[in-house]
Amino acid sequence: MKITRITSHVLSYDMPDVLGYSQQFYAKRTAHLVEVETDEGITGWGECFGPGAIAVANKGIVEGVIQPMILGDDPMDRDVIWHKVYNLLRDHGQKGMPLQSLSGVDIALWDIAGKVAGLPLHKLIGGAHRDSVPCYGYGMMLRPEPVDDLAARFVDEAATIKDAGFVATKMKVGMGPKADVRLAEAVHKGVGADFPFMVDANHCYTTSDAFYVGRALDELGAYWFEEPVAPEDHDGYRELRAGLKTNIAGGEAEFNRWGWRAILENRGLDIAQPEVCALGGISEYLRVLALAHAHHTPVINHVWGSAIAVAANLQLLAAMPPLPGGLNPWEPMLEFDTTDNKFRDNLLKEPLNIQDQVRNNGGRVKIPTGHGLGVEPDRDFITQYKIA
Ligand code: CA
Repeated sequence: MKITRITSHVLSYDMPDVLGYSQQFYAKRTAHLVEVETDEGITGWGECFGPGAIAVANKGIVEGVIQPMILGDDPMDRDVIWHKVYNLLRDHGQKGMPLQSLSGVDIALWDIAGKVAGLPLHKLIGGAHRDSVPCYGYGMMLRPEPVDDLAARFVDEAATIKDAGFVATKMKVGMGPKADVRLAEAVHKGVGADFPFMVDANHCYTTSDAFYVGRALDELGAYWFEEPVAPEDHDGYRELRAGLKTNIAGGEAEFNRWGWRAILENRGLDIAQPEVCALGGISEYLRVLALAHAHHTPVINHVWGSAIAVAANLQLLAAMPPLPGGLNPWEPMLEFDTTDNKFRDNLLKEPLNIQDQVRNNGGRVKIPTGHGLGVEPDRDFITQYKIA
């Protein structure tokens, strides 16, 4: 079996509302799908993390840099391919866009392997520890409006997400420490005292500002405080974890086993959030998962993107061993963005219907059982939204 072509499909549409996080506002939704074709007619699908112009640039890496390295290779040799590509790209980037690009290709190779074996990906990894996962809904994105309006909006939006059946919710902050505490109080008010809520700073604080916000979150009983400081600030992470009651989460901006080894050994994370579409794909995710569990650090995958990314993560969440196990073990959750995303809701021939599942199954989402990722994108839909 041989790889005959690798194609990046960059999809985009204008969002109904301008949304934001602590670094920027955005008006377009983008997805970067990777299609790997073979001489036996089996096609695999993957996805690369990275919005907008990043996706367009990553298409150049996927098609122009990685494709010529592995054209004609056996797609079943995915670990050999991973190391060939990584070793050839090492001098040009051990993190960031080269790894995002490799991730999409690697996920597509796993999809092919599942289709060849006639097995869902979780069986290929070693089986399902669970046939469904609880799902948390994130929303409460920033908007270009006064903090008073945003706080009022957050109260209502948090209540709506809770009422939709999600098991927990997550908000954005980034309007400044004092305003952010007000926003967290608004979400706490919206969901009530006993419903878990999490706070995502997207690395906008200094360590001292993160302590100011984190102490307020301790009082409110937040479940976790995500990316409080810059991912490079290992000392900040360690000090925050030692000084706050709220769990410290992060890792979506970290790549490969070597980057993860450093942040895990630093002991600055209560919860690790690897992003499979960025850190190096499923091959590397499995190594990062093993590293995290070797440090007894629980993992809740970072999930962003289209239905391909969601399906890949559902497969990985099924195959994640309980840590440490028990009659009522700690369980990972599926991250779900409750804001408008056609590339997740409408991309597939048979949609995952996550929102309906959450509403009807006590906040849980079933693991796809089809071969490979277990999902197939609709080519007409891709053609309709393709910009590059
Ligand atoms: Ca995040």
